[in-house]
Amino acid sequence: MQDSPRIVRVAVPKPLRQLFDYQLEPDQPGVVPGARLRVPFGRQSLVAVCVSADPPDPHPEPRQVLEALDAENIFGDALFRLALWVADYYHHPLGEVLDTLLPARLRQGASLDAETGTRAGFSLTPRGAGQDASSVLNRAPRQRALLAFLEQLGGSSDPETLRAAGFDAALVRAVAAKGLIVRTLEALPRARLMPERRPRLNPEQAAVLDALDRAGDGYGVTLLEGVTGSGKTEVYLRAMERVLAEGRQVLVLVPEIALTPQTLRRFEERFGTAATLHSGLTDVQRLAVWSGCRAGTVDILIGTRSAVLTPFRQLGLIIVDEEHDGSFKQQEGLRYSARDVAVKRARDLGIPLLLGSATPSLETLHNARTGRYRHLVLTYRAGGAEAPTCHLIDIRGQSLEDGLSPTLIAAVRRQLAVGGQVLLFLNRRGYAPSYVCTACGWQARCSECELPMTLHRDPEALICHRCSVRAPLPRHCPACQRSALLGIGLGTQRAEDGLTKLFPNVPIYRIDRDTARSRQRLEASFAAILRGEPALLVGTQMLAKGHHFPGVTLVGVLNADSGFLSPDFRAPERTAQLIVQVAGRAGRAERPGEVWVQTYQPDNPALLALLKEGYPAFAERELALRQAAGFPPWRAMVLVRAEGNDAESVRGALLALRVRLEARMIELGAGSGVEVLGPVPAPLPKIGTRYRLQLLLLADTRRQLQRLLQGLDPGAGQRGTQVTLDIDPYDGA
Ligand code: ADP
Ligand code: ZN
Ligand code: ZN
Repeated sequence: MQDSPRIVRVAVPKPLRQLFDYQLEPDQPGVVPGARLRVPFGRQSLVAVCVSADPPDPHPEPRQVLEALDAENIFGDALFRLALWVADYYHHPLGEVLDTLLPARLRQGASLDAETGTRAGFSLTPRGAGQDASSVLNRAPRQRALLAFLEQLGGSSDPETLRAAGFDAALVRAVAAKGLIVRTLEALPRARLMPERRPRLNPEQAAVLDALDRAGDGYGVTLLEGVTGSGKTEVYLRAMERVLAEGRQVLVLVPEIALTPQTLRRFEERFGTAATLHSGLTDVQRLAVWSGCRAGTVDILIGTRSAVLTPFRQLGLIIVDEEHDGSFKQQEGLRYSARDVAVKRARDLGIPLLLGSATPSLETLHNARTGRYRHLVLTYRAGGAEAPTCHLIDIRGQSLEDGLSPTLIAAVRRQLAVGGQVLLFLNRRGYAPSYVCTACGWQARCSECELPMTLHRDPEALICHRCSVRAPLPRHCPACQRSALLGIGLGTQRAEDGLTKLFPNVPIYRIDRDTARSRQRLEASFAAILRGEPALLVGTQMLAKGHHFPGVTLVGVLNADSGFLSPDFRAPERTAQLIVQVAGRAGRAERPGEVWVQTYQPDNPALLALLKEGYPAFAERELALRQAAGFPPWRAMVLVRAEGNDAESVRGALLALRVRLEARMIELGAGSGVEVLGPVPAPLPKIGTRYRLQLLLLADTRRQLQRLLQGLDPGAGQRGTQVTLDIDPYDGA
């Protein structure tokens, strides 16, 4: 053993399925799986991760490890095993999975010691606090203002507070460079239980908590289904109390769009602390939170999708809020579902998982119906607010004013007159979704992906919502030269215009991706809306999620049909969830709300089930349809996507893959129950210059598909065509 060279097998951060062997020098310390190493790779030097030490059949001439970076498994055993599972289940290169898990600083080779579970701050130095400062800074009023601000706060503050007060990082650095302030690190506060802050549970909440109690602290998944405002968050807070009291940690996953300061504040107020992981953090902040979770000094972590892949020392509970939300599924690269990974993680650790939603996904409902998950419900609103009343408006043959029917306009007028706020929902930003010539029928299409371009105002342009290509508005039709061009259809900008004409004296707030670009403007809008005076809110799903608008008494859905008509098999489910979410914004406080839904299909059975009988009835019906069609959640699905610049070779690649799969099916005797459909064009058949096609694999069980795909490199031997697997796809099937 002593004489033979020590070999380590590593995963490198590259899109390669292969692992690589390296040799340790006699004077280099031993390396365990999960530890990082610096290794030469081609002409590069990479930070790789050890997968096994002394592997079987080592490479005969391994290169030398440059540096062993960790003495221990940096992920911790549990997360490392989870990463191996993720790579395997989602058929993604292990090196890339491990790389995704690491905060940027660790990816670059930084060591994991200094800033564990700390948060950075800035404090005045004696010079900064003394007379020196004013002479040094007599020509820098902003820098002087920063010192005065710190003085006011008792001498120190954190970067976020400073930024919020208008002192940006560059300014802070400049003052630090003059020795007037120093960077400090303080430990994150630990969670405290403050029972005096909590409301009394209502009987339903108490029953739910009782059931959770009885379920114990081992593995078990509970679906908590409750309408918006029914007090699910209060249940989470109570369930967390118990876990925290035992000194264990809690992970709360929320959808991207829901991680608002409002959400965070609720957890902070109850426990005095809550760390977050999201895209807005600096690398240093991210590392501090990550390592704090790993060391056990962060008690509560609230985060979006990727937070499910954080190491924890003693995780005791995982909560997934709005578990049906599509943002839990990553749509590119490592296409994992954070919700599904959370289930796996809870099972591995033997801890409970709580899935909350007003509109559970059909997957989760199916699991509840078959007894794999516990199903608890909250049926009424906790704060005492009444459920809104629902009305359907048949808009066939009606003349609409910028998308609003006379019935809806009258209802809006009534609500505004009694001091209510109105929220109008439309899932289309821009002014009009198409721009056409009324003389010859020409339509503006994206030069890259051939999709219709959306007309925008302020500033005026044609924009492709897929690839963001912009074009100026032609004055005359490029086809017939006449000036008969017109925006057709309805976007949020046009609805806003229409409302301005109809209600000139009421403030209007448009909330969509375009207005959200200015964070300040968005925050100002929210603040104004929360003051509660009469107002019109018009927007996309950004309005539907996360934010609470207690003053809203009327919610209008301008067009309920588009979603139900989309070919994607999940489209009705998504649309129903969205409608319920928007409707849930109405009448959250003392006043009962009303919901008006405009449709060209007043007989659509899915829509009727939803509006007349509610989401559970809709879901029941939809599950039956999925069963009849042989789709998830009844069967397992994998989407094979292929794209490239040449449509024919993309198709050829998928045909070849299909032949390989069918041969494998025979070989494995897995022929029965597995279906391969396609190749067919993807729902977006061309993005930019890339043609996109897909194969659909369906089977009775996930295991069948996993066996079929095991060890298969779907893109092997296909030059110019990129092939990727999407396991349990959320979109595009
Ligand atoms: P959900 O998470 O289901 O949307 P929340 O937990 O946010 O519901 O509760 C909705 C509102 O009702 C919140 O303002 C919350 O503070 C309040 N609330 C929740 N539970 C209670 C309770 N037991 N007593 C009084 N108010 C409650
Ligand atoms: Zn024309
Ligand atoms: Zn385009």
